[in-house]
Amino acid sequence: MASIRTHTGQVHLCASCGQPSFDGEYGPEHFSEQWDGVHCPRFPLAGDRIVIAWAGMSLETLRQQYPDTYPR
Ligand SMILES: [Zn+2]
Repeated sequence: MASIRTHTGQVHLCASCGQPSFDGEYGPEHFSEQWDGVHCPRFPLAGDRIVIAWAGMSLETLRQQYPDTYPR
C-alpha cells in the first residue's frame, strides 16, 4: 500500500466513502494511513474516483495531516 505522505501522483476522492484515494496497480486504492480509519465497503481498494482540482497547498496539507491508523 502507498502512503499519502509520500505518494507523488494524483490524489482523488473515493466515490464510496469520500476519502482520498489514488490509482494503484489494480485501479483506485486507499492509502496505508487509512488502514483502520476508513469505513469503505471496498477497502483496501477504493470506489470510482472523484477528481479534485487541488490547490497546491491544500493537497500538501492533506498529505501531512491526514490521520495515520496503520499499525506499526
Ligand atoms: Zn473508499
